[in-house]
Amino acid sequence: MKQATGMEDATLPDHPQDEPPLPDALAAAADDPTLPTSARALLRRAREALLAARSDADAAHLRYHALFDAVPDPVSILDAQGIVLDLNRAGLLAYQRPREAIVGQPIEVLNPDLPRDHLAPVWDAVHRGRTYVIEVTNMRGDGSRFPVEVHSAGFEHEGRPCLVAVARDLSERREAEVRYRELMDVMDRGIAIHDTAGRFVYGNPAALRLLGIRQGTSLGDTANLGDWIALAPDGGEMPWAELPPIRALREGRIVESTLMGLYHRRRRQLYWLTVNAVPQYPPGGDRPHQVLSLFSDVTTLKRDSAMFDRVQALAHIGGWELDCTSDRLHLTAEAARILDSHAPPDTMEALVAMLLPSDQTRLRDALGAAMLEASGFDLELQGLRHDGSPFWVRAIGGPRHGDPATSRLTGTLQDIARSKRDEEILRLQARTDPLTGLLNRDAILGELEARMRDGVRGKVAVLYIDLDRFKFVNDALGHNAGDELLVAAAHRIGRAVGDAGSIARFGGDEFLVVCDAGPDASHAERVANAILDSFGDGFRFDSEEFSITASIGIAHAPDDGDRPQTLIQNADAAMYESKRRIRNGWQRFTPALAQSQQDRLRVETHLRRAIDNDEFHLVYQPQVELRHGRIVAAEALIRWRNRQLGEMRPDHFIDHAESTGDIVRIGAWVMREACRQSAAWRDAGLGVVRVAVNVSFRQLVGDDLAANVGAVLAEFDLPGSALELEFTERVLIEDAPDTLKTFAALRAMGVMLTIDDFGEGYSALNYLRRLPIHGLKLSQLFVGGVPDDRSDVAVCQAVAGIARGLGLGLVAEGVESEAQRRFLIDLGVPVGQGFLFAPGMSADEFARRVRDTGGVFG
Ligand code: C2E
Ligand code: MG
Ligand code: MG
Repeated sequence: MKQATGMEDATLPDHPQDEPPLPDALAAAADDPTLPTSARALLRRAREALLAARSDADAAHLRYHALFDAVPDPVSILDAQGIVLDLNRAGLLAYQRPREAIVGQPIEVLNPDLPRDHLAPVWDAVHRGRTYVIEVTNMRGDGSRFPVEVHSAGFEHEGRPCLVAVARDLSERREAEVRYRELMDVMDRGIAIHDTAGRFVYGNPAALRLLGIRQGTSLGDTANLGDWIALAPDGGEMPWAELPPIRALREGRIVESTLMGLYHRRRRQLYWLTVNAVPQYPPGGDRPHQVLSLFSDVTTLKRDSAMFDRVQALAHIGGWELDCTSDRLHLTAEAARILDSHAPPDTMEALVAMLLPSDQTRLRDALGAAMLEASGFDLELQGLRHDGSPFWVRAIGGPRHGDPATSRLTGTLQDIARSKRDEEILRLQARTDPLTGLLNRDAILGELEARMRDGVRGKVAVLYIDLDRFKFVNDALGHNAGDELLVAAAHRIGRAVGDAGSIARFGGDEFLVVCDAGPDASHAERVANAILDSFGDGFRFDSEEFSITASIGIAHAPDDGDRPQTLIQNADAAMYESKRRIRNGWQRFTPALAQSQQDRLRVETHLRRAIDNDEFHLVYQPQVELRHGRIVAAEALIRWRNRQLGEMRPDHFIDHAESTGDIVRIGAWVMREACRQSAAWRDAGLGVVRVAVNVSFRQLVGDDLAANVGAVLAEFDLPGSALELEFTERVLIEDAPDTLKTFAALRAMGVMLTIDDFGEGYSALNYLRRLPIHGLKLSQLFVGGVPDDRSDVAVCQAVAGIARGLGLGLVAEGVESEAQRRFLIDLGVPVGQGFLFAPGMSADEFARRVRDTGGVFG
């Protein structure tokens, strides 16, 4: 039979070779005249039917061969014994042999390595209705080999069982597989394959390395998921169902870039991975049968970022990024926490809305400039969270680096609430007096300056307040009581002033009130009265009650000064004037006060040069026994003769000298001059006249008085008893630390020590007891009133009683009349001093009088 394909005859046997073909035999029989016509007609019809069937079979055969040769893989037909009955065109090409070298030959010709009974399992499968698949290596005509996957199936041909075997060339797939494996091996990303039960079925070397699994160990033992705890990015446990491979299996789609932690229980090791999980489907299957996970170790990265997060949290700095086109605002966790952990803004507009109105504008302007001009900004912004709590942030920002279109702005956000609070506390501390909590000197000066500059606020008045008997309380009751008094006084002043002005503690016991002057300028006076009233009730300490008053000076700007310093100075001057005159009152600054202020300045200027210009001299006033007028001592009184200012009494300049400190030099001069004079009188044969010298409290504080006195006595070779020192009560009040020591040293030298003007000041009896003094001088203030003024009489009696009680001497000053002398004698006062006996006289005059009278005055 010829084939239409032009190939050699099909080897499939269809009839016996030695017999004539059946149609020809039928044709011959039909033409046989010996047969009846009906039989010949039947034979002819049979032949036609046979020919028709033949042409159908031929067509089927042709179709079979066309199909057979169209299969791209080699297909062979084998008989039960493995003889090749047919091979398609792809087979001839693949094995590179002629047809006759294969067809009719046993299958071993194609694969010499096949085991002897290789067909048994094939038939076994075939009989069970299956296709048998096997991978083998076949051989080409030239002896070279190639891998094939052979699918074998059975079929029956003309009653005989045959096999059809399709061999797929695996060469390319094998190469791809090798390349794939090599890739897996060299890849630094881990690849793991899990089956549907979550079992780890494959891991590339990187996976094993990353997960710390030794190569060669059984994956089932070492890498099953039970060994691991999976962690979510926040550190919490990641549920099994959320693991990327499990999700990929469940959802049947790729799960991308998931950050997860893996903690190995036994090794106590934590890995952070980013994982992509890809589900894999079996050919034709619609459910994934395994999942491939690709992962990278980001442990260090995560650690760095965790560290970064922690650093951010510690520094209270967060980050933000703004997509300018969508207004989307991305905040880092810390930035979100700073702004509003419950409802962080997700657009810039929402953030802006949280800010104070003025800061809204500032931020909008800055953002606008950043977008338009690519400029950066650095702003401190305040706002409120949704719960009403305030925040204070420093926002730094600008266009994202390398973003020429400035479509994104990025920056940091720092929580500066704490530093703002610290700043505020520091600012407050720098402005307040720690004891009273009032403004301090600098703060009130700043405020006064601002108010004076600010013309709109109207006229400003300053009240300078000084507590009248503060030093007494402080000294008598101790510094704690003093502090308590200041706090109480501050409180009272605060209540009295209310919101009419600002109050500051200006110095030790000095306060300053700055307030509006008001339209009629009496406003400040009303405030002053309120303050004085508030001191009406006594102050209590423990069980004792003290009456403390205040003296207030008032100055108005700009009349009494157009600069803060002058204004305060003038209020101070008015306060002094008030204290001098009445105490517990107020005094407005006046031009006359201004004049005295100027005088004071002039006096102080001249005073500074008075010693060098030799402008001082001393006069001497005798102290006499009241009964007989016999001289006991002479008080040296200073006089100042200045060419411009004329002759001046100490009342006019001693205060100034004390306030400028010049008194120390002046006092030293007086001391030396008095001793020099005493020595001169002695040398002139007048005998030793004890000279009483007035000593300022300042000489006790500033200088080593005892040493100076010792030196002067030594210089003029005088005994200590030739000198008497008169201290005012201020010495007692100031209570310099070394007063007691100095007094003791002076007394040890034989120097006489007296308290001058006793009764005028605030002498506390316990001080008198403590100090090793010899006597008191009864102030002329009281002596002047006796014997008629009853209260003066009472004071004189009291002082005489004290002197007697403490065993102190007593000298009455300012004795001008015989009546006073009598009164004092009756009171038991032994010594007096006054015009009744003699005024202060020059040294020469004094010496002459002593010689003339034999030392008896009056
Ligand atoms: P003082 O120590 O009480 O001196 C007595 C003052 O009374 C003297 O005034 C004296 O001239 C005055 N005086 C004396 N007898 C009478 C009298 O019968 N009637 C009246 N009305 N006054 C009389 P002076 O010299 O003006 O001194 C005033 C004060 O100046 C002194 O008061 C003393 O505290 C202080 N002083 C005087 N000289 C010095 C000195 O050298 N150093 C210091 N630190 N103070 C001095
Ligand atoms: Mg005196
Ligand atoms: Mg006196």
